[in-house]
Amino acid sequence: MAGSKLQAPRGTFDVLPADAVRRDRLVGLSAHVLEGAGYAHTETPIFEDTALFARGVGESTDIVQKEMFTFEDKGGRSLTLRPENTAGICRAYIEHGMHKLPQPVKLWSWGPFFRHEAPQAGRYRQFTQLDVEALGSDDPSLDAELIVLLAQILERSGVKARLLLSSLGNADTRAEYGEELRAHLGAHESELSDEVRSRIDTNPLRAFDSDHPGTRSAMEEAPRLIDRLDREDIDHFGEVRALLEQAGCAYELDPTLVRGLDYYTRTVFEFESDDLGAQRGVGGGGRYDGLVEKLGGPATPGVGWAAGVERVLLASQREVEGAYFPMRAYVVVPKAEERPLAFRLVQALRDAGALAEMEQAGRSVKGQMKQADRVDATHVVIAGDSLEVRDMQTGEQHEVASVEDAVRAVTQ
Ligand code: AMP
Repeated sequence: MAGSKLQAPRGTFDVLPADAVRRDRLVGLSAHVLEGAGYAHTETPIFEDTALFARGVGESTDIVQKEMFTFEDKGGRSLTLRPENTAGICRAYIEHGMHKLPQPVKLWSWGPFFRHEAPQAGRYRQFTQLDVEALGSDDPSLDAELIVLLAQILERSGVKARLLLSSLGNADTRAEYGEELRAHLGAHESELSDEVRSRIDTNPLRAFDSDHPGTRSAMEEAPRLIDRLDREDIDHFGEVRALLEQAGCAYELDPTLVRGLDYYTRTVFEFESDDLGAQRGVGGGGRYDGLVEKLGGPATPGVGWAAGVERVLLASQREVEGAYFPMRAYVVVPKAEERPLAFRLVQALRDAGALAEMEQAGRSVKGQMKQADRVDATHVVIAGDSLEVRDMQTGEQHEVASVEDAVRAVTQ
């Protein structure tokens, strides 16, 4: 349409350079922490068969019922932009026979995800998740390790978050408890919101997530799943808790923690920050011991989490750790003839690991010094009749004999 103003679609945003630096730092820090714990980087497609999410995430969830960007391709196949990562990772695990590898298979990834939600601060239709999954072992130390890793990433990103923890037990316990909860909801039907009432059969657990006052008061006396766990699940949860305590990772037990996805079993957790508005969750996850089997693979336990990159950065109270390029040099070129020397200097500085740029817009020397300030240069190298290095913090400037000496003066 000629003349109409083009804008990024509702619920999406552009990442401009200032913000990109913080995002890159967060991803870099996370890569460092996760690779250091034996998690390997993986990528899966941004769109998958719709059936994967319908089966994996669960037909009765908000995500599948209301929030997926689903489309038909030219061959008439139904595809969906991924709303979360666990189903895709499990699909890849099955497709590539990863159960034959030494277990657990520990993977991390990051990238864009898509949910058709009402946009607000911290809630977008395209957002970025960091995602970590460990498949092939039900060892409680994996649950604890994953939680501690997310706690570390949040801490080093300047986020103060509260860890909420619970256990959902196994599929049988959940099914039996589901009946009990349905009976309770049935007895209080008139007090419930329409939405909760319409889901008594399909997903009664979600009643715990409701903000509706009538539903909330009905839920106060509701039976709790945590009181119905069987011996093995109690022991598993006990070990996870003991390991967290040993690691000094503080948590609050929250028996109403359900999370919006169907596949969880046993441990579930969520990190919440008070420095966010209504959308307090910065990251969360849990164990999903039946999911791989449900998607057609061998019976395989799994545990994982996802954290929202935008939410982490919104909640962050200081710089994300991880200084990239502590040395930043700006090469000032007083005369155009010196450009080849300046170009050589920039290459040598970059080879030595410094961030280096040279004048490339025909500014006066004064303008170039201003530009050096703008880019936060720690050093200026003046490539003129003589070579001079200026320390921008102290203002001290001295002549050096060669390109190599200039590089040494900047990087030492
Ligand atoms: P979930 O897969 O729903 O457990 O989400 C995991 C994390 O992803 C949340 O804790 C948020 O940080 C982030 N997240 C989920 N949905 C959105 C959204 N619509 N916009 C921004 N971040 C989101």
